[in-house]
Amino acid sequence: MNFDLTNEQRDIKKAARDFAVGEFTDVAREYDLNETFPEEIIKKAKELGLVGLFIPEEYGGPGFGYLEQAMVLEEFWRVDPGIGQQLCTISFGVEELLLYGTEEQKKKFLPPIFEGNTIFGFAITEPDAGSDTAAASTTAVKDGNDYVINGSKVMISNGTKGTHMLVYCLTNPEEKSKTGRHSIILLETNRKGYEADRMEGKMGIRCSDTASIYFTDVRVPQENLIGKEGNGFIQLMNFFDRSRAYVAGHAVGLAQGALDMAIKHVKERKQFGQPLGAFQVTQFKIAEMATKVETARNMVYKAAWLLDQGRPDTKLTAMAKLYACHVAVEMVDESLQLHGGYGYFNDQDIERFYRAAKVLEIYEGTKEVEKIIIGREILGNLK
Ligand SMILES: Cc1cc2nc3c(=O)[nH]c(=O)nc-3n(C[C@H](O)[C@H](O)[C@H](O)COP(=O)(O)OP(=O)(O)OC[C@H]3O[C@@H](n4cnc5c(N)ncnc54)[C@H](O)[C@@H]3O)c2cc1C
Repeated sequence: MNFDLTNEQRDIKKAARDFAVGEFTDVAREYDLNETFPEEIIKKAKELGLVGLFIPEEYGGPGFGYLEQAMVLEEFWRVDPGIGQQLCTISFGVEELLLYGTEEQKKKFLPPIFEGNTIFGFAITEPDAGSDTAAASTTAVKDGNDYVINGSKVMISNGTKGTHMLVYCLTNPEEKSKTGRHSIILLETNRKGYEADRMEGKMGIRCSDTASIYFTDVRVPQENLIGKEGNGFIQLMNFFDRSRAYVAGHAVGLAQGALDMAIKHVKERKQFGQPLGAFQVTQFKIAEMATKVETARNMVYKAAWLLDQGRPDTKLTAMAKLYACHVAVEMVDESLQLHGGYGYFNDQDIERFYRAAKVLEIYEGTKEVEKIIIGREILGNLK
């Protein structure tokens, strides 16, 4: 068993770290406060090949894997979760295209991510269908050569800034099995009848774009169907097996960032005549934090590595997501505690990290959903 990263992986990780430190550090707080979309940073990250790392070179991508995607996002989130989130979601949903798209679809839709301003999104969640994705009721009805889409989605990343949106639609409502009713359709967001409203007041990762979307008779050619009609639920579950691995990478990065801040602070801050880090209770705390972050990292890298070996492991990926995101939330709490009252003010990065962390236990499957998946994988379906 070899746990060493290759030289190339080390270089990519370092390039991501250098990029994040150089580009995010001075602007992250302002971007978060003002909800500024990081347009220029996206452009530069694309030029450097630091987005969509899992997209093969033949489609214009950097041609690495999910492990590299997780590592790069880890380094981004370590410096700023909001900008990290936005850089991640540039290619959000593309996994579906790679898994189920035709060659023609891949050649048409993927290269512009790197050559132009294309930004993807994946619209699944609806006001009445969150964790229960099978309840999604946005319809796509065939009419001539088109699908006509009607309905609405909520909390969708890149809803307003995205140029392309994969939409999870009800196409086969008559099907008895809940796994056979939906399909995934790719549409350009400049199509007539697509409207998006930015959702204001987000607690964290505030520079990222999150929106409600409304579809009113949006016509999309049937050739934009991704995969098979009625197979959307299965395709979605396979997508989550991939996206969860690198979302867990976000969590490792955020946790490491919170730990970095804690270490710096306890070395500098003196009370009772000595640095906080000289108290054994603080040393124990730092030791426990570092152990948890390292454990989470190992789980995430293994889950991502298995994906790159063509052996997705649903249980391990859900475990990695569950554990890493739990650790992230715990780390911001511990780190802020070590910062004392200063950590409660927004001139300290830990305040922004604290607000950002919670989303990790909500999107890409809530922590309860991850436990349902793990339990089902272990016990089987006992109903
Ligand atoms: C910043 C942000 C960005 C997002 N981006 C996207 C995006 O790009 N695309 C997209 O489609 N969605 C996106 N989402 C939505 C996200 O995926 C959902 O919020 C998530 O799936 C949970 O759905 P919900 O919010 O409706 O919560 P609900 O499903 O209503 O859950 C509420 C609570 O009930 C629990 N619960 C639900 N069902 C069960 C059960 N069977 N057993 C036990 N407990 C249960 C949940 O775990 C949770 O604690 C985003 C959300 C946020 C906050």
